[in-house]
Order: sequence, then structure tokens, then C-alpha cells
Amino acid sequence: MTNFRVRRALADTPAYRPGRPPAAVEGVTSYKLSSNESHLEPLPAVVEAVAGASGAPALYPDPAAARLTEALADFHGVPADHVVLSAGSSESLAALVGITLEPGAEVVYPWPSFEMYPQLSSFSGATQIAVPLTADGRHDLPAMAQAITDATGLVLLCSPNNPTGAVLGQAEFASFMSQVPEDIIVVLDEAYIEFADGSEAVGALRTADGHPDAPVDMGQALDTYSNLAVLRTFSKAHGLAGLRVGYTVAHPTIIHEMRKSIAPFSVGAAGQAAGLVSLALRDEVHVRAKAVGATRDDLAVRLRELGIDVPPSGGNFVWLPFSEHDAHAFAEACLARGLAVRDLGRGIRVTVGPDEAMDRLVDIAARFMEDRRA
Ligand SMILES: *Cc1c(COP(=O)(O)O)cnc(C)c1O
Repeated sequence: MTNFRVRRALADTPAYRPGRPPAAVEGVTSYKLSSNESHLEPLPAVVEAVAGASGAPALYPDPAAARLTEALADFHGVPADHVVLSAGSSESLAALVGITLEPGAEVVYPWPSFEMYPQLSSFSGATQIAVPLTADGRHDLPAMAQAITDATGLVLLCSPNNPTGAVLGQAEFASFMSQVPEDIIVVLDEAYIEFADGSEAVGALRTADGHPDAPVDMGQALDTYSNLAVLRTFSKAHGLAGLRVGYTVAHPTIIHEMRKSIAPFSVGAAGQAAGLVSLALRDEVHVRAKAVGATRDDLAVRLRELGIDVPPSGGNFVWLPFSEHDAHAFAEACLARGLAVRDLGRGIRVTVGPDEAMDRLVDIAARFMEDRRA
């Protein structure tokens, strides 16, 4: 018997496809550039915190994650009831979908964007309104605003956008928000925002007079937009993907509802401890993020010189728009030389990695473009 009584929505719901691991290739070091992970060594104090927190595995962690929640609230300039931790920001996303969407409701999101958006939306049974990005990989905010109807239950924004890297600007964001009814929750997924700092694209929530590197005053943002839920994660710039620590900053009413969906104890003791230390060391984290950003910009320039139309990226990755056929061929060419990249059908997303990996990627791209012309 395999005809189990499961929800109808599952029939159309894809399972998440994780980034491929690289294949071993004789004579070269392999690199995984397919999941936007940090390639840097962890900060020593973070490693120590993880070790220290692993001494009592029999005990549940602090269910309220009080210290990290307080520290994050402090960092963002909001009371602690505006913050909820989750097992990565993916769990926050799932909770936000869970509290807003059901069959009959509509969800508006940009596409291509984070693969969890269609997956979680589909799982909810809601109708998906995937609004195509502009030709240069940006959110088409006017079209997204137009797509909002009486049935809209949730709007998702991703800045910097995974996979194209485009960063939402303040003015376009403000204009968009003014067109969204105030009872519709708008998620701003900022998984990569640390990599956008210091660049021209400073993000949707920076105040006009604020220094790009100053922490965002979320209190101010949420006073202006009470229907906004900001997703952040320790997985990318903080390099803690393996520990599953993410969070949402939003109005306490939204946080309160999300808590009904988020599993108790979803962030373990090691994750809480590591998050606390990494947040305290955010200046170092920022220095690293800037270095990654510099490598990213350099990689983008080199790829553009080869004739690949790489859009400006605010993330720790770049986007190579290709036809489906070329994307597949390019991913295979990378795999043959020990690099795993993300083939997303209409293009390739490459995570910033060590210099050697970047040089090899440019070399593969140069040969690929040459062969294509031949
Ligand atoms: C990686 C990523 C996340 C979060 O991942 P977690 O590890 O669950 O925190 C969220 N949004 C986007 C767009 C991402 O690329």
C-alpha cells in the first residue's frame, strides 16, 4: 500500500534540491561553489563557543534562546518581542508561509529567486504568482504591486536576490510598500545583506543619512512598515550554515503567530552560543564580507570581459545568464574540472570561493565562450 492519505498539495510540490558536491578530479583540488557557503576558516572564538556549548548534550537548549534574542534585539534597535530565532531563516520562511497561506490564497514572489519560495508556497496549497525579474535580474516591483489582489496572503522579496544578486534600493522599496495593503505581510529576505554593505547598493532599509555599514535601525523600519518581516541568517556571511541559526525581525503580533509554527528548541545550544559570539565579532565578519564582495566584483569583471552578461551582485555569488542548454554544458564543464556550481536552468550561480577556484572558473568560462563561438 502506497496510497497514503497525504495532502493534495504534495503532488505538485518539489523537494528541495541541495547544491551538488564537486566530483573528485585527478590532480586538482575540488571546490563546492553551489550552495553559497562561506569558504573561510571559522573565527577561532566561534569554534571555542561551539565546543563550550557541546558539553551537555543531554539537556535541551534554552527554549527562548534568551541571550541571543536579546543581543539581536539590541543590535537591531527593537524590543526582544520583535525577534524570533529559527533553524536557519528557512524555518522562519516556512513559519511565515504557514501563518499566511492556504488553498485559495495567493502568494506573490519574484522569479528566478530562492528555490524555497515555490517549494513552500506549493506545499501550502496557495496559488503562486511568480513575477518575472527584469532583464537585468532585478525585482519588477511595479509588476509585483500590480499582481497583488484581494486574495494575496503573502509577498516575498529577496535582497540581494538569490540567484541574480540584485539589491533593492530604498526608493523603489518605499514606493512598493506604499502600494501594498497594510494587512498583507511582506517578507524581506536579507540572507546576503552583509555582502551588499559598502557597495553602492545599500539595501531597502538603510536610512538616507545612514552610513552603509551602520546597523539598520529596524525599529524605525517597522514603525514605517508594520507589515514587514525581515529575515536574516547566520548561514552566509557569519559562516554558520551547519549550525542552523536564522531569525525574523517583525511586529510582535507577527512574531507571536510565527512562534506557533516554529519548532520548540529549533536552534541548538551550539548554534545559540556561536551566534552570540559571531554577532559580537560582527566587525570581523564585516571585514570578511567586504573581502568576499571584492573577490565577487573582480570575478564579475573578468566574466564580463569574456562576454558573459553578469549583473552586479550584492551577494557572495555571481549569476551567469545562459540558455538552458549552455547552463547545463557549463555546469558539466565545471564538474569535469573539480568545481560544483549551481545549474538553475536559465543560468549558473557561482559562489565566491578561494582565488584558485575563481581563476579556474574564469579559465573554464574563457574556453567555454571560445568553443561556443567556434
Ligand atoms: C541561504 C538562503 C537563506 C537561508 O538559509 P538558512 O540556512 O536556512 O538560514 C534564505 N534565503 C535565501 C535567499 C538564501 O539564499
